[in-house]
Amino acid sequence: MCGIVGYVGDEQAAPILLTGLSKLEYRGYDSAGIAVRNEATDKIAIVKAKGRLKTLIEKTDGGSAVPGTCGIGHTRWATHGEPSTVNAHPHCSDDENVIAVHNGIIENYQELREKLIKKGYTFKSETDTEVAVKLIDYYYKKYLGTPVDALNHALVRIRGSYALAVMFKDYPGEIYAARKDSPMIIGVTGGESYLASDVPAILKYTRNVYYIGNMELAKLTKGAVAFYNL
Ligand code: GLU
Repeated sequence: MCGIVGYVGDEQAAPILLTGLSKLEYRGYDSAGIAVRNEATDKIAIVKAKGRLKTLIEKTDGGSAVPGTCGIGHTRWATHGEPSTVNAHPHCSDDENVIAVHNGIIENYQELREKLIKKGYTFKSETDTEVAVKLIDYYYKKYLGTPVDALNHALVRIRGSYALAVMFKDYPGEIYAARKDSPMIIGVTGGESYLASDVPAILKYTRNVYYIGNMELAKLTKGAVAFYNL
């Protein structure tokens, strides 16, 4: 089952992501990772580690080695591919344009993977998640639309269950979330927005919680959230 956390606001994201993930440890996991956008360099840093969350915390100096105020984090329970740093999330498109974490299982990933290979995509991991990320990237580039358009095109082609948190390089300060048969909630307070698989991850910050409906999309920005249905 494992967990997802997201944050966009004025605080440093990485420590919030790591604390949130530690509150989701009860759900079980075999590896963990975070992606944080550094506004100063406009780069998104991805750090992943196999095993305990403690390893990721040490690797990132408690989060201080990964500066930035917008990010996503993940604890993985491997279903496709062994527990390893390569298979750990976040996964990204080759140009790092689309970066995402995912809980759940994409049932038709093999068929989608083959389709993407024919279009020239290559894969670094054995996960179904990397297929979803590259499918979103494919539709983003094909129709030159918004992240919501790209997610919409990709998600109607995906069979299975997912809770997804996605960042697009072209859209700073925004996190996109979508879910189908996997839980995910959103918390908004003042100028901060939070995303999590379960309430304990964000309870410290807010009790103002929104539930994303099944087959719904959400766009989180600083202190605001917009919902879309598929
Ligand atoms: N199916 C994905 C994987 O194996 C996500 C597993 C999870 O829910 O953490 O990477």
